[in-house]
Amino acid sequence: MSEHAPEIESYLGTTLKSSPLMRQYCALTDTLDSRAELEAIRRNIHQNPELAFDEVRTSGLVASLLETWGFTVTRAVGGTGVVGTLKCGQGGRSVGIRADMDALPIYERSGLPYASVNEGRMHACGHDGHTAILLGAAKQLARTRNFDGTVHLIFQPAEEIGAGGGAERMLADGLFERFPCDAIFGLHNHPGMEQGNFLFRSGPFMAACDTVTITIRGKGGHAARPHQSIDPILVAGSLVMALQSVVARYVDPNETAVVTIGTLHAGHAPNVIPDSARMEISVRSFSPEVRASLENRIRQLATAHAEGYGAMAEIDYVRGYPVLVNSERETEFARQVAEELVGADKVVGQAARIAGSEDFAYFLQERPGCFVRLGNGANQPLLHNAGYDFNDENLTVGAAYWTRLVERYLGR
Ligand SMILES: [Zn+2]
Ligand SMILES: [Zn+2]
Repeated sequence: MSEHAPEIESYLGTTLKSSPLMRQYCALTDTLDSRAELEAIRRNIHQNPELAFDEVRTSGLVASLLETWGFTVTRAVGGTGVVGTLKCGQGGRSVGIRADMDALPIYERSGLPYASVNEGRMHACGHDGHTAILLGAAKQLARTRNFDGTVHLIFQPAEEIGAGGGAERMLADGLFERFPCDAIFGLHNHPGMEQGNFLFRSGPFMAACDTVTITIRGKGGHAARPHQSIDPILVAGSLVMALQSVVARYVDPNETAVVTIGTLHAGHAPNVIPDSARMEISVRSFSPEVRASLENRIRQLATAHAEGYGAMAEIDYVRGYPVLVNSERETEFARQVAEELVGADKVVGQAARIAGSEDFAYFLQERPGCFVRLGNGANQPLLHNAGYDFNDENLTVGAAYWTRLVERYLGR
């Protein structure tokens, strides 16, 4: 860095008239200074994982670091959530960036020196890394203050638990009313892709994931007297086949949807017709319209099917996270920021859709924005695996990305 120091000094002393290349250079080299510190923070969080809405130590660490760096800190937003706010200049624009903080109920088998000391809890989804990245950006933004407007850094609890998770709780706690954001941005690491590569996609990017439990109520009896019973196993077997028609016949071939019957339970003895049968179904989709029609179709089919056999269907349809939809303008903007930073060869502009789900989708229902996936290494263990670890090489890349994104979004 030394031989370029005068140029950087002059850059920092001027406004954003410098070339994109120079901006990129500064963003990366400045965060490199913080590499060791960020790594220590990340490994500290990794070693002390906390489950959803129990992120007391983690959020305390986040809040105190933000305060040290001059942020206005609001604690207990949506449970254990923290928002750090920094305002520069007189600009009226604002932007939110979100990181998730929770770990998973997994026994860590990574063998790392900083492996979890909380048995049965593990940062197996890299939320330790997402949190450290956003802290890196916080420190850098507070140091350079090279923007005009307000940035809200949103540290969210409980991404992993499905319905009623941290994003919903923060929104219910008035997140965007208390901390107005013109747009919202987030990232997730992505094992299976080269470290430091960015995956963008405008429009639907990650799936909605719903879970349906159907209980068929029949009438139990002796196996020898089927005519005096209503056999729920026959109904369930027939319904399993009928449900295959939902995607095949009711979803536009240009759309993608999945209906998987993951469990089917009934009966205890070969000579007994049971009272009931139960199945659990995973339903995934990439558009609100398809999602709604899948639910309607499954409800209608199960109800009518059971009635057709003289049985009854109880349907418990639980909606999980919605489709994650990136807005076009903000995605293009974020893609340009990434491309300036790491070069076009490390940025995929329109990646394939991902069948996983993510509660950042709730924020994107309220504000325009972009959720990006950041390569964690091609041959790394997958997310939620007991051998997984976040790739620390991404700490500075991620922090530089957020810093540049804020500086560009809230450009003077
Ligand atoms: Zn996860
Ligand atoms: Zn995750």
